[in-house]
Amino acid sequence: AVSDVISNKGEETLRAPICCVMGHVDTGKTKLLDCIRGTNVQEGEAGGITQQIGATYFPVENIRERTKELKADAKLNVPGLLVIDTPGHESFTNLRSHGSGLCDIAILVVNIMHGLEPQTIESLNLLRMRNTVFIVALNKIDRLYGWKAQPNKPVRKSLNQQSKDVQNEFDRRLIEVITQFKEQGLNTELYYKNKNMRETFSIVPTSAISGEGIPDLLLLLVQWSQKTMVEKLTFRNECTVLEVKVTKGHGTTIDVVLVNGMLHEGDQIDPIVTTIRALLTPHPMKELRVKGTYLHHKEIKAAQGIKITGKGLEHAIAGTGLYVVRRDDDLEEVKECAMQDMKSVTSWIDKS
Ligand code: GDP
Repeated sequence: AVSDVISNKGEETLRAPICCVMGHVDTGKTKLLDCIRGTNVQEGEAGGITQQIGATYFPVENIRERTKELKADAKLNVPGLLVIDTPGHESFTNLRSHGSGLCDIAILVVNIMHGLEPQTIESLNLLRMRNTVFIVALNKIDRLYGWKAQPNKPVRKSLNQQSKDVQNEFDRRLIEVITQFKEQGLNTELYYKNKNMRETFSIVPTSAISGEGIPDLLLLLVQWSQKTMVEKLTFRNECTVLEVKVTKGHGTTIDVVLVNGMLHEGDQIDPIVTTIRALLTPHPMKELRVKGTYLHHKEIKAAQGIKITGKGLEHAIAGTGLYVVRRDDDLEEVKECAMQDMKSVTSWIDKS
């Protein structure tokens, strides 16, 4: 049922994710942005990329075009990606105090030749504190001794073209970086080997000079942020209390608008801390305020106007939000759906 909600949502409800670039000085943050922005512009196919104040907007068509070599069949259903231009932009740090994040996703740039550096760890802690999903760009792979650049190729193809020595050197440095992340309490893995993106962060090897790995980075950014955003929209219920009132035969009830997600009979709702006894709606074509009998529902999907009955509802306050704590069996269902989603994301990784 939850997956129904996901497929019913989608294109029109998702906005473009906002992406920030973070990392130690000189790891290539600026160059990486130039590279993401530049290649198409140079080739005369700007493809709708627009530079805005402090940010660059990439329409999804552009991203699809640039990642076609990866043969991703998973749906891209965000309209595009907004990348904040100024690496280490003040706003990212300042907005912490607002409690709402500017970025949906971040790129944490690490120089493969240097591994984790002081500002890498600073950035890392910021991201963790804010619960921001991020992808590690392991940059400057072209600096590996003997590297033969394959301009703008997906990184796996590029790696396969390298000599055994270069591949060994790459592996050695990759493992070192993974170990360093581990020392910071974080699991990381090469993105196409990462089977559990919920617990393990993905590493995309890149070169901002040759453009290798940039298709991978773009695709992963869009797919991963869209996945987490779909969850934001569907798994976290948005529900606003319109009115608290006594309804004949039901005691104190609340009229709510379920903006997003789903409600079930038996769901526990906060902050009133009670259980939904019944979910009621008027008979079709009747407005919620009209007196009369009601239809009972086991579950209701957004968006709907609903009357909720249960104990203690007199403590609810009109105009405030309701937070739904799911029952355990639903949690299992949500997890199951989330796992199925993950499979659709990882399937293109397996194929590329
Ligand atoms: P920032 O301080 O993180 O923004 O780093 P910059 O983008 O200014 O890059 C620092 C230096 O590293 C510049 O001289 C870049 O040309 C160089 N650089 C950045 N990315 C790469 C890369 O992938 N390969 C190589 N060889 N050099 C890079």
